Amino acid sequence: MPRSQEGLARLIDRDRLDDDRITAAFRSIDRKVFVPSEFRARAYEDRPVGIPAQQTTSQPSLIARMIDAARVPPGGRALEVGTGYGFQTALLARLCREVYSIERHPELAAQAESNLRAAGITNATVTVGDGWAGWPEHAPYDAIVVSAAASEVPDALRDQLAEGGRLVIPVTEGASDNVYLFVKTDGATRLVRLLTPARFVPLVKEPPS
Ligand code: SAH
Repeated sequence: MPRSQEGLARLIDRDRLDDDRITAAFRSIDRKVFVPSEFRARAYEDRPVGIPAQQTTSQPSLIARMIDAARVPPGGRALEVGTGYGFQTALLARLCREVYSIERHPELAAQAESNLRAAGITNATVTVGDGWAGWPEHAPYDAIVVSAAASEVPDALRDQLAEGGRLVIPVTEGASDNVYLFVKTDGATRLVRLLTPARFVPLVKEPPS
């Protein structure tokens, strides 16, 4: 188990991701800032860590694979659904120009904003809202990364992808969640491949108001 930020970055590096900027992003973002203070000792382990509201911040190597597949261009714009404590938000912010992130729990969104400030991130914006609707005001996005398992791919997220844009999303199928990569080509968001099975918290469907 890695015991330092550098150790965690090396572990990510061993995964031979396509995008070598991701290891650099892991080196530059201290996960300790993005876990609750009582769990600081576990910040550099490659495991999910509990955060308030019965949620978790995802396993670092899984985040690495997902943002690798999202392949967000340096000048591009990314949407994250499920901010949690903001760790993946911070990594995405290192990889592209603008990150927009949606979180349904106000207290998590507020803590994520403060964590991002503490990490010196200035190009990420967090809002409280329902990820099923995406964030149309800032669309289209070059990459959309969903951090909670959906029962199906939300139409709004398909629509808010730019042409050539990539959507990485876990979908609940039977007992497992399968993380899929979709790419928008000729105006249609198409399934490209299964990245990995994994476990996520559910992408909650708000009751209609
Ligand atoms: N990206 C985070 C993962 C946090 S866990 C990380 O870096 O670790 C997933 C988050 O999705 C939780 O905080 C949960 O509250 C949020 N979530 C669940 N359903 C949602 C919805 N419909 N809209 C927005 N956020 C949602």
